[in-house]
Amino acid sequence: MFTARHRTARSFLAAAAVYLTVSGVVVLTQQTSSPPATAQRLAPRTPADDGFTDTPMLPGMRWHVHDPARPHPPVVIPGATAGAAPSDAVVLFDGRDLSKWAQHGTGADSNKLLDPKWPVRAGYFETGAQTGSLYTRESFGDMQLHVEWASPTVIEGNSQGRGNSGIFAMGLYEIQVMDSYNNKTYADGQAGAIYGQWPPLANVARKPGEWQTYDIVFEAPRFENGKVVKPAFQTVFWNGVIIHNRQEVMGATVYRDVAKYSPHAAELPLMLQDHRNPVRYRNIWVRPLGKYDQPEK
Ligand code: MG
Repeated sequence: MFTARHRTARSFLAAAAVYLTVSGVVVLTQQTSSPPATAQRLAPRTPADDGFTDTPMLPGMRWHVHDPARPHPPVVIPGATAGAAPSDAVVLFDGRDLSKWAQHGTGADSNKLLDPKWPVRAGYFETGAQTGSLYTRESFGDMQLHVEWASPTVIEGNSQGRGNSGIFAMGLYEIQVMDSYNNKTYADGQAGAIYGQWPPLANVARKPGEWQTYDIVFEAPRFENGKVVKPAFQTVFWNGVIIHNRQEVMGATVYRDVAKYSPHAAELPLMLQDHRNPVRYRNIWVRPLGKYDQPEK
C-alpha cells in the first residue's frame, strides 16, 4: 500500500527519530515536499515526559490519567493534499482502473461477479451505462469513506431524474448523490440525504460538472439473535460542511416505504448506484474505523 512518497515519509520519520536524540542542539530539517524548514530545540527528556502513575484512574478503565503504559496509536501518513488518501487507506479508485470493483451479472450470469462495464475516462469513471450498480470486491463495516463526484454537465431531467446515483454503505444504506443545484425534489431525496429518512442539514451543492466531496463516517448496525441491537449511524461532510452528525439510520434504504433492518453480515461490499444518469466519480478511498488502545506494533 505504501507508495514511493510514503516510503520517503517513513524515511523522514526515521531520520526525525535520530534528531530526537540530539538534545539541546538546533537541527534544521527539510522535507522532500518542500514545506518550510523547521528548527528543533530539544531539552533532555525527564520521566514526566512519558506520563504519570500517581494520577487517578480513568473511570472504568485500566489507565491512569496520562498513563505512560497506555499504547500509542499507529502512525498514519496523511495525504499530501486535502482529500488525498492517507497511508493506511484502501484506495478504491486512483484514477486508473476499476479493479477494486465488480458488477452482478444478469440472466445466465446472474450468479457471477463480472468486471465493471462503467466507462473509465481521464482520471474518473462514470455511471449511467445502465449496466447495473457497482460493488467493491472487498467488504467493509464501520468505515471512513472519501468520495468525489460530479453531476452531469448536460442538465436534463427533473427531480429524481437529474444526476441521480448514490453511495450505499454495505450495499444497503444510501447517501444520495444527485444534482441538487436548482433542482427541487422531495427533501429526503435530495443530494446528501439519508434517502427516504433524513434530508441533509444544508444543501451544499456545487454546479453541475464541478467536483464535490463526501467524507462519510459510517457505523454499521449490530444484530443479535435476529434483532438489531445497535442501529447504523451516518456522519457526513459535504464539500467540508457537516450535513449529518452521527444521525441514526432507520433501516436499509427503500423507495416509498419505511425503512427497516434485516440481519446481515458485519461487513459487506460498498455500492455505487446506477440510476441511468452519467454521474462522475474519482478519488475514492476507505479506512476501517480504528479502535482505541490497541497493542502497539
Ligand atoms: Mg440515488
